[in-house]
Amino acid sequence: MVLADRNVEASWAIDWVGRKEFDYTCADVAEGRDLATIAGLSYKDQDGKIKHNPSARMIQKHGCAPVGADVYQRDLQIEKYFIGYLLHPYVSLYTGRGCPAQCTFCLWPQTIGGHKYRVRSPQNVAERNGLHEETLPASAGVFLRR
Ligand code: SF4
Repeated sequence: MVLADRNVEASWAIDWVGRKEFDYTCADVAEGRDLATIAGLSYKDQDGKIKHNPSARMIQKHGCAPVGADVYQRDLQIEKYFIGYLLHPYVSLYTGRGCPAQCTFCLWPQTIGGHKYRVRSPQNVAERNGLHEETLPASAGVFLRR
């Protein structure tokens, strides 16, 4: 999430946002940790004041995150999600994080993943691709993104 102040202020319904790579920030919130202790979090305190915790550390080992395929299979109807430039339904597998380039039209490295490029191993990609094919047979295509 970018512009954390403006986004937290945007609605009474928004209690917090995660900045930059927010995978573990969101997991910490879901586990019920005290918001004041969660790295990468901007949130409203009990008085409605916006607080910004220190940034989370960039994820170094990209392949270490848990596989979400079983959660997708249990809770997600992928047919309900649509992106106009991809086959439908689809699954995205991210094989890398960050990008050293600075294309002016692109927001990703500037706002989320940073410029340090981190990759999954070929074995990890093959293993996870297989898991998605097994658990989400409805997907028409798997979109590999570097
Ligand atoms: S991810 Fe963005 S910045 Fe990196 S090469 Fe692709 S378009 Fe350019």
